[in-house]
This record gives sequence, C-alpha cells and structure tokens, in this order.
Amino acid sequence: MRFEHETLAQRVCFAPGEASATVRAEVERLGGTRVMVIAAASQTVVAERVTALVPVVLRYDEVVMHVPVETAERARAAAAAHEVDLVVSVGGGSTTGLAKVIALTSGIPIVAVPTTYAGSEATSVWGLTEGARKTTGVDARVLPRALVYDATLTRSLPVAMSVASGLNALAHCVDSMWAPRTDPVDQALAGEGIRALAAGLPAVVADPAGVEGRERMLYGAYLSAVAFSSAGSGLHHKICHVLGGTYDLPHAQTHAVVLPYVLAFNAPSAPEAERRIAEAFGAATAVEGLQRLRHTVDAPKALRDHGFDEADIDDAVRAILEVVPPDNPRPVAAHHVRQLLRAAWEGTDPLTRDDRSQGRTEPSDPP
Ligand code: NAD
Repeated sequence: MRFEHETLAQRVCFAPGEASATVRAEVERLGGTRVMVIAAASQTVVAERVTALVPVVLRYDEVVMHVPVETAERARAAAAAHEVDLVVSVGGGSTTGLAKVIALTSGIPIVAVPTTYAGSEATSVWGLTEGARKTTGVDARVLPRALVYDATLTRSLPVAMSVASGLNALAHCVDSMWAPRTDPVDQALAGEGIRALAAGLPAVVADPAGVEGRERMLYGAYLSAVAFSSAGSGLHHKICHVLGGTYDLPHAQTHAVVLPYVLAFNAPSAPEAERRIAEAFGAATAVEGLQRLRHTVDAPKALRDHGFDEADIDDAVRAILEVVPPDNPRPVAAHHVRQLLRAAWEGTDPLTRDDRSQGRTEPSDPP
C-alpha cells in the first residue's frame, strides 16, 4: 500500500438542538468579535436564532447559487466596510460558497452551519461564476475552521430538496471511489458515507420532521465531502460541473439525475469501486443498490425536468470531453457521453440504451 493522504484541519461539532451555544463557543475559540452572518432571506429567522449569542455587526442575505462575481464583490465590500473578523454561514452550499469567496481574498475565518447535504463546508474548493462560466479553485483559506451540524435545522428542508441534496452527497461518495487522487482512506470514508446516506434518506422521506434520519444524512454528507475533497473530481463531477455551470441547471437535482448513468458506465471497469459501493448498499451490484434507493425516495429522474434542453446535448458533449479525467477507469469517447446525456435527459434505464438508428434496445456498452 503506497499513497499520500492529506487530512484537512477542521473542528467538527455534531450538536443536535444546540447550534446557538455551539456557534458561540466556536466563535469565541476563534476570537471573533465582529461577526458577519450570511444566510439566505428564507433562512433569516433560523440564522438569527443560531447566532443570537455572538457579536454580530452585519447580517447579509444576498445569496445566489454558483456565486456570481458581482455578488461576491458586494459581499466582500460589505465585510470590509463593517471590519468583519469572522463569518458565520447558515445555509446550504450557496451560502457556504459566498462565505468562502469572502475568505478567499481576506483570509477571514468561517464557522459554517450547514442546512443541506451539499457538503461544501468540508472542502477547500471555492466557486465563482462570471457570465455563463463557472470557475472553481482550491485554497486552504476557504476551508471553514469550524463546522456546527445541528440536525434540527435541516427539518425544514423540503423532502424533494432533501432527496436531491442527499443524492448529491451520495455522488461525492461514488465519484470519490475512482477520482484522480483517490486513496484507501477516501474509499473507506466514502463507503461509510454511502451506508449512512442509504439508511438516512429513506428515514427522512418517511419522517421529514424526525431528527434521527436527518442526523445520519448530515454525518453521511460530511464524510462524503471529506472523501471528495481529498479524492478530487471524477467523471461524474466533471459532467455535472459543465451542465450546472453552462446551462444553469439546479446543482443537487443535476447530480441526482446523472449519478446512475455514470455509475453504470464506470462500474464494469472499476471492480474495487463496484465491490465497495455494492457492499455499502447491501446489494448484489452497485447500480442495483443505487437504483433501489432512488426508487424508495422517488429521486429526480430526467434532466429535461430540470431545465436541460435536448438541443444542447451536442455542445455539452464537446465541453465535457475537454474535462474528462484522463485516468477515468474506462476510456470516454464522444458517443459514450452523448449516449449518457441523452439517457439522463430522457430518464431512461441507466443499464440500457435505446438505439434508435437500429430500432432496438441493447446493453449500454457497444463492443
Ligand atoms: P442551496 O444552498 O442553493 O439551497 C437550495 C435551496 O434550499 C435554497 O433555496 C435555500 O435557501 C434552501 N434551503 C437551504 N437549507 C434549507 C433548510 N434547512 N430549510 C429550508 N430551505 C433550505 O443548494 P445546495 O444544493 O445546498 O448548494 C448548491 C451550491 O453549493 C452550488 O453552487 C454548488 O456548486 C455548491 N457546492 C459547492 C461545493 C464545494 O465543495 N465547493 C460542494 C457542494 C456544493
């Protein structure tokens, strides 16, 4: 066994029902005296409660998915004008993302209180969008110093969004199995992440107000992001990055739809990943386990339901081919990506392809 694994330094606090006291303790530990609280307008009341015990000088709610450059500039200017020395973010990946771009240029520490399963809080990846172009980068300054997971805050996340977001976390685990820098530590974390998410998501759907399922989801989401941050972006994330950034598709739903197609494509060429994923699901095969879960939670099925236009498939194929990881377990050709996108657009079974030119259905991998 020969590998190098970098563990990122964060304090991780699981504190169900105790976000306010835990946030206060973390802010004090980091010496924050002038706190900026970032939360989307819909999360204002929750954010006020969570930050009731810290010295707030600015509450900020201009949160936009994929962080447009102008949004970032305004938030940075507001932080500077108020002499902010610590940011508390309360919200999903979009909220954490805004806190990160402030930290990117200022080094101001972040205490993140996640309310979805996006996992951005556990990565040092930042993202900014200029026009239709999304740029991402890795920088140690954007990694939140402390994470406060309070499952009671996620009970308000609607079931459909919980499902999409949970499958986004699952995608981090699956892609981590074969991503460019994957190692045995990432794979172990990803396997435990899949176990937690596969148990948690049906529990959330069955009882959205219950804390137990929500807790498992946050635990799985955290593990998934730690694995992903270390392993890097595999084929799945490269595809979703192009789709989300170029066609402005909703992040979590795009991941939820695309995942089974990438898994069905890669799994036959990645036997160790196949074994670990199937085992974590307790299923005969990785795809079977994923599909069983997707069926149980009524997962999003087709990209056409989420704003992707069929006419954009060929352009997307070209853009995706430019970013395919060279060491993907299976070589990726244009016809593979086209077939995958078309199937994901339509929402057809990931294990078959509809070969219209010959009027028959056959296994997805042509010889
Ligand atoms: P989001 O943060 O945009 O949230 C989706 C919606 O849910 C929003 O309307 C939000 O206000 C609402 N919401 C959030 N928490 C809620 C709650 N508890 N109750 C009710 N409503 C709630 O979506 P997301 O999927 O969490 O994050 C997506 C963004 O995060 C994308 O821009 C993506 O690129 C980024 N992301 C980054 C990383 C990274 O490592 N940098 C990782 C994952 C996602």
